[in-house]
Amino acid sequence: MTNAAEIDPNHLDFDPDALRAKYRAERDKRLRPEGNDQYRRIEGSLAHYAEDPYGGVTPRAPREDFTEILIIGGGFGGLVTAARLKEAGFSDLRLLEHGGDFGGTWYWNRYPGAACDTEAPIYLPLCEEVGYVPSHKFAYQPEILEHARRIGRHYDLYDGALFHTAVTDLRWNDDAQEWVIATNRGDALRARFVIMSNGPLNTPKLPGVPGIESFKGHTFHTSRWDYAYTGGSAEGGLSGLADKRVAIIGTGATAVQCIPHLGASARALYVFQRTPSSIDVRNNRPTDPAWAASLQPGWQRERMENFNILTSGGIVEQDLVMDGWTEIIRNLISMANFRGTAIPREEVPRLMELADFQKMNAIRARVDAIVEDPATAEALKPWYRQFCKRPCFHDEYLPTFNRPNVHLIDTQGQGVERITETGVVANGVETPVDCIIFATGFEVGTAFTHRAGYDVTGQDGLKLSEAWAGGMRSLHGLLVHGFPNLMITSNAQSGFTTNFPHAMDERAQHMAYLLRALKARSAHILEATEAGQNAWVDTMLKASRASESFQAECTPGYYNNEGKPNPLSVQNGSYGRGPVRFFQLLEAWRDAGAFEGLEFR
Ligand code: NDP
Repeated sequence: MTNAAEIDPNHLDFDPDALRAKYRAERDKRLRPEGNDQYRRIEGSLAHYAEDPYGGVTPRAPREDFTEILIIGGGFGGLVTAARLKEAGFSDLRLLEHGGDFGGTWYWNRYPGAACDTEAPIYLPLCEEVGYVPSHKFAYQPEILEHARRIGRHYDLYDGALFHTAVTDLRWNDDAQEWVIATNRGDALRARFVIMSNGPLNTPKLPGVPGIESFKGHTFHTSRWDYAYTGGSAEGGLSGLADKRVAIIGTGATAVQCIPHLGASARALYVFQRTPSSIDVRNNRPTDPAWAASLQPGWQRERMENFNILTSGGIVEQDLVMDGWTEIIRNLISMANFRGTAIPREEVPRLMELADFQKMNAIRARVDAIVEDPATAEALKPWYRQFCKRPCFHDEYLPTFNRPNVHLIDTQGQGVERITETGVVANGVETPVDCIIFATGFEVGTAFTHRAGYDVTGQDGLKLSEAWAGGMRSLHGLLVHGFPNLMITSNAQSGFTTNFPHAMDERAQHMAYLLRALKARSAHILEATEAGQNAWVDTMLKASRASESFQAECTPGYYNNEGKPNPLSVQNGSYGRGPVRFFQLLEAWRDAGAFEGLEFR
């Protein structure tokens, strides 16, 4: 990572006021009145953008059967939940998955260069349980997808899985005390318990610019990579592009990973940029076999917790992971050391901001050091606080702009204007291309029912969309009053950590605990009480205020509802005191044994 030297807050080599003003000006250029409505849903004439290019749908007869537990989603969330439930003795499980195999985001996102950005030994869940140590610090997509399959095999989850199966309706039958699940494959399934693990960032989106349908060349979204057209594989070697002029729209975390491969293979590559990403050092490397052999039982949990404490602002004796995520916290600690004192609480935000300025100065200096053309280098510099957008880590992205066939088309925050039959228009100029690749991300903050593809009908016909119309209401993000025997695993009203699978595992273990407790009482129903749910919403609202002003000052993106912080974002967001406190809170709730806010019947 880019080393940030110790800061003496009283003798800075930069002007914080000037940086604040520059950040504000860059943000203001990008604010759009239409906010999150600027994007187009993939439906109707655009529906083909979401089709599965990786494998045909195997015909099967519709199913009508009963399972004790049905899990919606076969990504890491669904897999870890199923694994922990199996370990807890629940064997009658069915998983429904929209993709053609397990893997979730790693099934869909097979673009060349796709890899995890959180180090693999803590990101790949259940490594110790399945006996696996990742091959690299940051594993590539094929290895991660294979790990998802490995979990599926290890825990015998394939037998109960239905792939290429999307839920279209989920309804509680109070007479039978069971859920009834309809799917796009004509299934009429029943289950005592349903766990929703739909995942975030699961619905790709397109920019709301005119002309997308009129383009006569080839086009696809990065989450549905068309290797039949580009040739090559997730490792690159896109030989089909050797004679092609390719446009890529978007420069987020996805584009950063695939652009080096496009640059290496395409005859010409045009990168349409609205906002540059911050690109820190990646320093990926193969796993040292001696280190792998030295690992002691419990190593993965210890490492995950070490990372989680550090990235939540806590202090640990040793930073085990040592990556870009933990670095900003190490900077802060180094400031405290410089001063030889503990940091007074009220000074933390100011020192965090200074550490952030220093970090982003180093990120911008790295652009100058790598990109040869000064104008291109200037355009690639990000002007916002590091966590306003997803930080990226890459060693080949910036050098790609030194290739003579690669052209950055910076739009000064305005984005592409339209698509024509033959190309892309930006800054009033049309660039003719053979292929347009949309690296424009996924729906965030749109209606839950649209992202999931179904609504949920609970007791007395209550719809989840109605129950949540004024904001999400739940106990711990997991249980909802009026929706018995339904559990939801997501970041909302729950502990969020950069290392998603860690939080998924904590929730999975909590769900297994709840179902075991239910069984021990010979009860059949568990449900959040209204009072328990109200109390949790209050806790959420009190805990989360701190991030609001930070979000409002950020450049637009999906982290801040495209620059229009949603009045419901605190209630619908993650627990504001951080994942460490959230996991401790769940543990204390279990230890208390009172099941406060929960009813067993
Ligand atoms: P993002 O939403 O982060 O990026 C979308 C990009 O499209 C942005 O650069 C955006 O610009 C640009 N864009 C949108 N509309 C236009 C337009 N009209 N003209 C030009 N550009 C436009 O999506 P990604 O798929 O890159 O990433 C989504 C998330 O997925 C990440 O934040 C991360 O959480 C996850 N991810 C994780 C990876 C990993 O772990 N290794 C790898 C890849 C993704 P602007 O910034 O101005 O809005």
